[in-house]
Amino acid sequence: MKILFVNPPNTTSLHVAEPGKYVEENIGRQFFPLPRIPFEVMAVLKDINEEKDILLLDFEWYKNSSLSKEELVDLVAQQNPDLILTTLIAQASTDSLDWLTTKIKKKLPNCTIILGGQAIKYFQEKIFDFCPNIDFAIAGFARENLIELISCIRTGKKDFKDISGLICKEDNNILTNKPSNYEPQELSLKYLYGRYKSLIEEVVNFVDSKGAWVMGTIEFSKGCPFSCNFCAAKSKYLEKNIEGVMEEIKFLYNLGVHKFYFTDLTFGVNLDSRKKILEILRNFKIKNKDFGFRCVTRADLITTDFVNYLLSAGCYEVGIGIECNDKSVLYSMNKKIPASKNIEALEILGKSGISFKLFLIEGYEGSNALSSKRTFELLNYLETRGYNYFIQPALNRDILPSQKRFKEKEKKGIIQRGNLNQLDFRHDCRKEGWDTERTIRSICLLMLAYPSTELGKENRSIELQKRNILDIPFFNDLGFETAISFIKGQNVESNIITDLRKDTVHLIDGVYTTQEIKNKLIKLYPELEKGIIEKEINFLIEKLREKGLIDSFGNPNLNKQELNQKNNLAFTRNKNMLLFWNGFNNRYIYAPKNKEAIKIKTCFYKDIPEEVFEFLIFSKGINSINEVSKKLHLLFNNKKGFRTQEEAEKTTNQICSTCKQYGFCY
Ligand code: SF4
Repeated sequence: MKILFVNPPNTTSLHVAEPGKYVEENIGRQFFPLPRIPFEVMAVLKDINEEKDILLLDFEWYKNSSLSKEELVDLVAQQNPDLILTTLIAQASTDSLDWLTTKIKKKLPNCTIILGGQAIKYFQEKIFDFCPNIDFAIAGFARENLIELISCIRTGKKDFKDISGLICKEDNNILTNKPSNYEPQELSLKYLYGRYKSLIEEVVNFVDSKGAWVMGTIEFSKGCPFSCNFCAAKSKYLEKNIEGVMEEIKFLYNLGVHKFYFTDLTFGVNLDSRKKILEILRNFKIKNKDFGFRCVTRADLITTDFVNYLLSAGCYEVGIGIECNDKSVLYSMNKKIPASKNIEALEILGKSGISFKLFLIEGYEGSNALSSKRTFELLNYLETRGYNYFIQPALNRDILPSQKRFKEKEKKGIIQRGNLNQLDFRHDCRKEGWDTERTIRSICLLMLAYPSTELGKENRSIELQKRNILDIPFFNDLGFETAISFIKGQNVESNIITDLRKDTVHLIDGVYTTQEIKNKLIKLYPELEKGIIEKEINFLIEKLREKGLIDSFGNPNLNKQELNQKNNLAFTRNKNMLLFWNGFNNRYIYAPKNKEAIKIKTCFYKDIPEEVFEFLIFSKGINSINEVSKKLHLLFNNKKGFRTQEEAEKTTNQICSTCKQYGFCY
């Protein structure tokens, strides 16, 4: 019997992944993460006397990014295993795992597939709804239970009831055995990595040739003693033997793995062990200059002493879950860290010069334009201090099957096999009702304005940072059509005022400040007195705010009222698009178009010409091309292509057809 551990690529959307994009979209060019799980599981099976191997599909893709996902499956099939072990770490990757196991099963129908990983304990028997082509799943840790299961498979024994944590189909039922309690177990290095030394060396040499480094995965503890409501990672806190972990670090270091990711959920939570660990690491760093690590901890653990210790022990990056800068949202998250403590921790980290990463959550229950604004303000403050930070923004997802929103969506048929990539917190899931226009706008601004893991440090836009907290009105989820219906319902004395109001509504797009809207309308309505225009705009914006139709990060209207006025206005601009402007030279379009799995960071278009941008503002389905061209002529009458109405009409038509080609307009 041949046993193969297939480590899946680190993506939530393998089913729609395109060749050539894996590294860019999922790993980046700086480092390659060496997973620990495959080695750990194989070490558990050390006494099973069968042919065993590990296939790191993420490394295969890293080596050869032009491989198609089907060719990755061929690599598995070529090894012709009888038994495949694989892992599902996060619920969001379920579709990837389903795609992979379905394809493998097609090629190797007699091969048995066993799935383990952190996410199984949440899915329980539901795992067979989402990944029907696996044969067995193991919840909790794979130890003797995995050995027993393999022995049953080998001997054809069908009695699985005593195998802890096992989930499998039995006649028409699903057997779900209780997982056993986990006790940290020493795994000898000889079995953990020793047998796969040549594989690790191959990884190190290849990654080195790319000018990147291998990032080893190490943990001093499992679980977390806290219980933040949004977190799927929390479980009982257990510590490992420090000397044992250090041996592992030394072993990998000597193989050329010099950088490490300490995956402890809250590194340093036990002050005594923390002191001991950092002391040992500091001595290790003195002798091994290339050693470095990054870790994640909590803001309320950050002190000047702790940070100084981290620095001297080789820590180059600390992550902390700030989540957002709003005390009531933090309270409902059960984060148990006041916003003021977060700021204190950021000051300590900032002054120390260490690089720190802030995990942010947008769209948590109770969050609103005001909470987003407060988060922007905090980030702007970090910017003014010149601290060495970057952010990792995420959308809120209820990824545990026991959570209310998960259950509701499952009941409605929204969550089902093949669309679980919507649990990825970096995907735009407005269609599935996880996100709103506001949360997508906000996360786009976070990615575009601040140094983020998504778009990289070099993409921060200082001007956009400043604009984030200005009064820039945008429609709430009731949208443009409702606002147009609303203004049509207001009595006005003349057609020109109706037109002015319509154009005001057009310009409310989360792009311009109220003053900028006024300036544009003054150009568009030369026949009206400036004072009348300003009065009209103030009146209209106030009315729209009163009705709860518009919101703003800078001047939030939080009294949203439900308006129930539907009509059938046609849209020409892709409805999912959002426009951004930094107030100067940079215009961005966020256009998810009709992609199946919408990863936000892949949907930005930059350096959009001013006239195209303005065209898109007015392309909401109620202006003809001729009307838009008149407006563009009034706005740009000094610019080539718009000097006469005739010229403007020709240029507008050209813009329109290009926008259609790009899928920006229908
Ligand atoms: S402190 Fe971190 S790991 Fe622990 S429950 Fe909260 S978010 Fe999860």
